[in-house]
Amino acid sequence: MTSTSGPTAGIRVDLDLCIGSGICVATAPRYFGQTPDGRARVRPQAPPPNELAEDAAALCPVEAILISGSGSGSGSGSPSPSPSGNGNGNPSPSPPAPIPPSIGP
Ligand code: SF4
Repeated sequence: MTSTSGPTAGIRVDLDLCIGSGICVATAPRYFGQTPDGRARVRPQAPPPNELAEDAAALCPVEAILISGSGSGSGSGSPSPSPSGNGNGNPSPSPPAPIPPSIGP
């Protein structure tokens, strides 16, 4: 059986796969918190998945983050249509997200 954590529609963490690296928490703290045992969980008040959540999923070393139906129609892997960049060919980085206080179990 596969257990998951993810009350937020569209984002789930496969707890059977999660190794507690904390990368998702560092990448998208608005979406993910860490339980006392070190594994990730989706924050109950996490907003609908966006590019930041997708980045976290892409960076997860064990691909434990599952995102389905972003709902907004954007953020399905395509970068924003903005032609701007930082002049060296790289897209603009996402703005830093505020770090909320740690969550309880
Ligand atoms: S990045 Fe993946 S393995 Fe690391 S804590 Fe998050 S879900 Fe778990």
